[in-house]
Amino acid sequence: MNAHDSEIISGILDSEGFSPVEDPSEAQVILLMSCAVREHAETRVLGRAAQLGGSWKGREGGGPLLALCGCVAQEHGESLLDRFRDLDLVVGPDCYRELPALIRDASRSSLVEFRKDDYEGVEASRKEFPRAFVTIMRGCDNYCSYCIVPFVRGRERSRRTRDILDEVGGLASRGYGEITLLGQNVNSYRDGERLFPDLLEKVSLAAGGSWVRFVTSHPKDLDPAAVSVMRRHDNICRQLHLPVQSGSDRVLSRMNRGYSSSEYLDKIAMLREAMPGIVLSTDVIAGFPGETEDDFAMTVDLLGTVRFDYAFLFRYSQRSGTKACGFPDQVPEEIRLERLGILQELQREITVARSRELLGRELEVLVTGPAKKPGQQAGRTGGNRMVVLEGSDHPPGTFVRVRITRADGWTHFGKTLETLLK
Ligand code: SF4
Repeated sequence: MNAHDSEIISGILDSEGFSPVEDPSEAQVILLMSCAVREHAETRVLGRAAQLGGSWKGREGGGPLLALCGCVAQEHGESLLDRFRDLDLVVGPDCYRELPALIRDASRSSLVEFRKDDYEGVEASRKEFPRAFVTIMRGCDNYCSYCIVPFVRGRERSRRTRDILDEVGGLASRGYGEITLLGQNVNSYRDGERLFPDLLEKVSLAAGGSWVRFVTSHPKDLDPAAVSVMRRHDNICRQLHLPVQSGSDRVLSRMNRGYSSSEYLDKIAMLREAMPGIVLSTDVIAGFPGETEDDFAMTVDLLGTVRFDYAFLFRYSQRSGTKACGFPDQVPEEIRLERLGILQELQREITVARSRELLGRELEVLVTGPAKKPGQQAGRTGGNRMVVLEGSDHPPGTFVRVRITRADGWTHFGKTLETLLK
């Protein structure tokens, strides 16, 4: 979401005559995009703001105007101006349209109002051809007890279907090979009577030969109708990120997730039955407050049962302002880290084994651009796995058929067999 919001900010600034520079030392304005989901990301961006301000000795020392955007800006607002004297602007996720005026005004200020703006009419300055993000909804109403997002992104609101379809159709006609629908909880999409499965079907048709993905799905809201649309449309990637967070019902309830582990497993079974071989990934939190050894063992079991292709594993991070931050039974840091290590080791073995299953198989791959070494290109499979194409020279956006020759972890190597026409 933040990566695409950065593209939206670039689009707003481009249209007002600002242009990016290659070398930060030539910049007259520096904007930092921030994420508040984890304490570590917040600490890093504030450290970076302090470092940048210090290195240019502030604007009085002739330095650039320094702006902090995103969820950390929203979370702390004006107080950041007091804490960081070299910071000039603090701008929350709903106020980016005001950036050109705020920059021109050049007085120290903070703007962190919640607004209904979904940036309609802004031409995002996309940086990732042939892969594009399209926001379909913003905000979240779920209030998971560990999560700061509803407090910094506001309540759920969806874009109009026709605006989304116009954007998707335009991207497909410009050769974007992969379009990812974005939202904190895409399954909550609603435009009048139209719900997510209907939108997904229409997007699939508007995308033509381009691939369609969507993120993030909430397990409680993923329904058979959406799975049926996926199954019926070949250009919707056989890949889904479905955050489980814990294998213990007691912990899931305290997280306010709205599903049990058996309901989650039923959804996984439904997906695999509808689309055998679908690539599945998840998020897990280790050491949530009150998590016992038994609770943790259930999470280990769930990872071993589902055998996700990939998992984003985190130790619980206390976020002030969330309900779980005030839970009295916080798990000691060393136990959180120990449990995280156990999950990482288990998942690493599963990811490697899953990846090796692809050896010798022929897969469709979207060429995305050059790889690190000369003569190599990078691409993505429909399952969102990275593939290094050896001896390949295709324009980005080309679909090719590839035989996988080497696989270790999430990156694969392959030989191109033929170009595919879409
Ligand atoms: S669904 Fe839960 S974890 Fe996801 S953004 Fe909303 S509150 Fe946060």
